[in-house]
Amino acid sequence: MTELKVLITNHEVPKVAIDLLGEKCTLIINEEKPYANREQILAKCPGVDAIFWASKERLDAEVLDKAGPQMKVVGCMSAGLDNVDVETLKARGIKLSNTPVVLNDAVADVAVLLALGAARRITEGRRAIEQGTWRYGVQWQLGRDISGSTVGIVGLGGIGQAIVTKLTKFGVSKFLYSGHKEKEEGKLLNAKFVTFDELIKESDFVIIACPLTTETKGLFNATVFDKMKNTSILINIARGGIVVQNDLVEALQQKKIFAAGLDVMTPEPLPRDSPLLKLDNVVLLPHIGSATIGTRAAMAQLTAQNILMGLGGAPMFTPVY
Ligand code: NAP
Repeated sequence: MTELKVLITNHEVPKVAIDLLGEKCTLIINEEKPYANREQILAKCPGVDAIFWASKERLDAEVLDKAGPQMKVVGCMSAGLDNVDVETLKARGIKLSNTPVVLNDAVADVAVLLALGAARRITEGRRAIEQGTWRYGVQWQLGRDISGSTVGIVGLGGIGQAIVTKLTKFGVSKFLYSGHKEKEEGKLLNAKFVTFDELIKESDFVIIACPLTTETKGLFNATVFDKMKNTSILINIARGGIVVQNDLVEALQQKKIFAAGLDVMTPEPLPRDSPLLKLDNVVLLPHIGSATIGTRAAMAQLTAQNILMGLGGAPMFTPVY
């Protein structure tokens, strides 16, 4: 396959993938630092046979048009595909893969981290240490227990299931989940399929683990926060766009809910003057769900393997369709 050209849209892609693809293909790499913007990616597209997409930029018809009709394979180094025009790629017969499963544990760990962190008010505690307001007090800085709680998962997919598996060890008394249909995995995990409305009303922890789609965009708005328990905690490890952020800020300010833990928000990076940063009852992380050395290497390797399979005419390991 030496004549095949693969564009890698990000120079930080782990070496394992560069080595794998480099053995069989000619690589064109976006070397721009810190990372390539849309124009820089588009400039390198013409004439390539496959694209290793490791970018937040939108992957759409313009990219395909720039690449040309010989480009038939795209490997995305992510589980989420909200920045990809999947229908257009499908319609044009492009093979498309993503990287589910290999990141389930890492992202679920972050969900657990945020759930415990928000429940135990770690932002507020840290600020008290920094500001010298740490004091002895029987009633000071009390958080909420996850043991004995009801945890609701919005989207019991790979990551949602990994979250339930991990939280089972924390003595959660009831798991609920919502989605389009009841799942076999739900039964195996002893999680109850309920409507979205039931989930938000009954859960002590609501964990968002579904994709960002036209259906889920802005799903969590003021009406939903009004229905949630004022003792509840919202965790979002999926995508910022699923939450109407201004409504969340208001709900947190007015203590309509107890706290939130967010790995994802809008926009990313979050501006330094965001009202979210002023709140004590929110734990924020800079979208690091899958950011471990091992997980990113596994994602890169899987993406490279998918591209090689696609170019070789074999089924990809994790095709999107
Ligand atoms: P997945 O295995 O495809 O699972 C997604 C689940 O969401 C499916 O079970 C789907 O089932 C459900 N779902 C879809 N629409 C829903 C809705 N309206 N309400 C409730 N559930 C709904 O995907 P995954 O690998 O678990 O990843 C989930 C999302 O996490 C990704 O799309 C991505 O945006 C995000 N993510 C974030 C990070 C991070 O770094 N923070 C890393 C990886 C992924 P039904 O269609 O049957 O309901």
